[in-house]
Amino acid sequence: MSKNLTTRTEDYSKWYNELVVKADLAENSGVRGCMVIKPYGYAIWEKMQAELDRMFKETGHENAYFPLFVPKSMFEAEEKNAEGFAKECAIVTHYRLKNDPDNPGKLIVDPNAKLEEELIVRPTSEAIIWSTYKGWVQSYRDLPLLINQWANVVRWEMRTRLFLRTAEFLWQEGHTAHATKAEAIEESEKMMHVYAEFAENFMAMPVIKGLKTETERFAGAEETYCIEALMQDGKALQAGTSHFLGQNFAKAFDVKFANSEGKQEYVWGTSWGVSTRLMGALVMTHSDDQGLVLPPNLAPIQVVIVPIHKTNEQLEAITNEVDVLIKTFKKLNISVKYDNRTTQKPGFKFAEWELKGVPVRIAVGPKDLENGTFEVARRDTLTKEVVSKDGIITYISELLAQIQQDLFDKALNYRNTHITEVNDFDEFKSVLNTEGGFVSAHWDGTAATEEKIKDLTKATIRCIPLDRLEEAGSCVFSGAASVGRVLFAKAY
Ligand code: AMP
Repeated sequence: MSKNLTTRTEDYSKWYNELVVKADLAENSGVRGCMVIKPYGYAIWEKMQAELDRMFKETGHENAYFPLFVPKSMFEAEEKNAEGFAKECAIVTHYRLKNDPDNPGKLIVDPNAKLEEELIVRPTSEAIIWSTYKGWVQSYRDLPLLINQWANVVRWEMRTRLFLRTAEFLWQEGHTAHATKAEAIEESEKMMHVYAEFAENFMAMPVIKGLKTETERFAGAEETYCIEALMQDGKALQAGTSHFLGQNFAKAFDVKFANSEGKQEYVWGTSWGVSTRLMGALVMTHSDDQGLVLPPNLAPIQVVIVPIHKTNEQLEAITNEVDVLIKTFKKLNISVKYDNRTTQKPGFKFAEWELKGVPVRIAVGPKDLENGTFEVARRDTLTKEVVSKDGIITYISELLAQIQQDLFDKALNYRNTHITEVNDFDEFKSVLNTEGGFVSAHWDGTAATEEKIKDLTKATIRCIPLDRLEEAGSCVFSGAASVGRVLFAKAY
């Protein structure tokens, strides 16, 4: 099979778009900015969901489901949130179509079916959820509320890109309510750590944990925690956010509780989310010019077995040998595919599974049967080894763990060698225009400087790293006093 992928150095953006489509992850749809997630892509998303869901439940959360629509007046209740999302809202104004009297076969909006109050298609669900929480919380005994929902949301994005930024996307959104400020802050930090753990252990994608600046903060939040990743082209990607909402939504929706002394207090809130953007992050972190490279922990197929044969007798003999192997893999929860299609040649199959990023390929031919061996190929390094059939199971399980680790180490090394400390603005611009990556620089803490830097360089402050050193310095742009470095980057 011919892959004909544009290479990353030729055109990174084109490489990404082609890869997502050719590897059968997703495609553009007939709806502007909305994608179709294909079965192979959806299988990876399901693995992400399963793991995240397990982690949420382990940290005490339960799933629920809230409506897709939010009445406009409810949406407006928390002003900052409403204002922040106003520019990208889809709005339902009517509920019926009728035949167009002037154009047979065409439909028009029925002017008599205008909604009394417009409905907003949720861009995020704080409004509908906090309006519900008002009925769920009376006393401190009702707290904390630890709820997550798996849903779709709509944000009318102008420039869209498969997975990374779509108008409709799938995500999970956690919404929690607490009796104290400290508890709510602890929760928002905890979920940021959960996201980081998921990104690193499952996606093999190193992330930097930090705080957003006021400009980049979620509309309606007091503080936004985030995890930031670095893609292979030196651009950053916000991979997940966790917001401390203070009492903003409790006040907007009048969610109060009687504390243990019987006094009425407003509830403290958090919300946190990751989306199908993580699929884009996964592709951009590990894949190469041959196609996808998937970390074993998220690969829908971890091992593919390809028989090499000329005759049916040979295929039968190989199948007999391989059957035992497949059964053992399944017992060990290693997902394996036996590609015994007779309609395609081995070379075609090799190329296809390479494109689809299957971490390990086993090839078996008549010679291997004679010698008691298998040919084992790694997708990440594209290296091959002949392995004796005794001990093959252990070899493969260890190899999968090794690949997972190696992918993380490689990405970490790339990330770490792409954080550059700079102390003057010319250097700042030159680093951004050459190797890119994160630029660690002093900032005077003002939104004005942040905006000027963005206008001049397209770089934004990705985060104020949680583990940064307190270090007196002067702002890379204005020269004013600064208490520590922040990370700038061009971002997706
Ligand atoms: P937010 O509610 O803005 O904090 O976003 C929650 C999560 O959704 C973050 O991880 C974002 O990176 C991600 N996200 C935001 N907008 C989009 C979009 N248009 N497409 C895909 N993911 C998005």
